[in-house]
Amino acid sequence: MYKCDLCKDRIKKGQEPACVVACKERLGEKAVFTFGLREQIYDMTLKRAKNEGLYIYGDRQNGGTSTLYLSKIPFERINNALKAHNERFQMPLKVENKIESTFNPIGKVALLSGALSMVGAIVGAIKSKKNP
Ligand code: SF4
Repeated sequence: MYKCDLCKDRIKKGQEPACVVACKERLGEKAVFTFGLREQIYDMTLKRAKNEGLYIYGDRQNGGTSTLYLSKIPFERINNALKAHNERFQMPLKVENKIESTFNPIGKVALLSGALSMVGAIVGAIKSKKNP
């Protein structure tokens, strides 16, 4: 099993990921993989989606990912098909950004109250040790 590491060794050398190169070599101008700076990729994706009537996946999920997908088919339909075939890989439209949700105002209050409870528990434990 091999997990994609975005070809970090190639990128360090200033090369594109191997799959992007292979895609370009095989499909030429019809290549479907593109690699670049995040801002440029987001700009290009938004323009193509608007001009070609495509759907985007990855721009909102998990707070905006580093990999964007474009499709003529709505991703809700794609995800329903993946679910129907019991695929492990799915593309749900709503993917919460755990870091943002943890550190939003409510998350901060929850985090703070948790931290205060811990301090309270530690103080309680120290007190009970001194006064058994
Ligand atoms: S070739 Fe593509 S899929 Fe494979 S590790 Fe590199 S970037 Fe990831």
